[in-house]
Amino acid sequence: MRYNLIRKMDISDGPGVRASIFMQGCEFHCKNCFNPETWDFNGGKEFTDDTIKEVLDICAQPQIKGLSILGGEPMHPNNIEGTTKLAKAFKEKYPEKTVWVWSGFKFDEYLKDKEVAKYVDVIVDGQYKDELHDFRLKWRGSSNQRVIDVQKSLKEDKVVLFED
Ligand code: SF4
Repeated sequence: MRYNLIRKMDISDGPGVRASIFMQGCEFHCKNCFNPETWDFNGGKEFTDDTIKEVLDICAQPQIKGLSILGGEPMHPNNIEGTTKLAKAFKEKYPEKTVWVWSGFKFDEYLKDKEVAKYVDVIVDGQYKDELHDFRLKWRGSSNQRVIDVQKSLKEDKVVLFED
């Protein structure tokens, strides 16, 4: 598995000051994707235990309120194992900080039964649809995408949207 980029400080992907990592590889190829350089599964750099350590070290800073995992597609079968390992390690080390994930896969159709869901606070799900783009939307690009409170959704066994 590979990743594209780590941002040590990100103020646009999720609430507060965060660190973010963009995983490499996506098969959805949405029209006008904001990040087409992440589509190629052979691009970017190798994702290793050192990558996880690097992210965890960045997140030790008190001003970092959480980790955002984007792509590419962090939940693609090629990537989900590494995403799970990272989210699990992060939550074990920083239970008070939040994990947000952006995925083209639907939460209730694909993600809710995956181990990774245990370690994620919020998933912004669904593929970007250019015809539904609205620049006023917060944390999502098109109105079909949902900002989901993962732990409440698991507990109540239905999709519960995140309340800001
Ligand atoms: S799912 Fe995300 S990364 Fe993949 S093509 Fe769509 S917008 Fe781009």
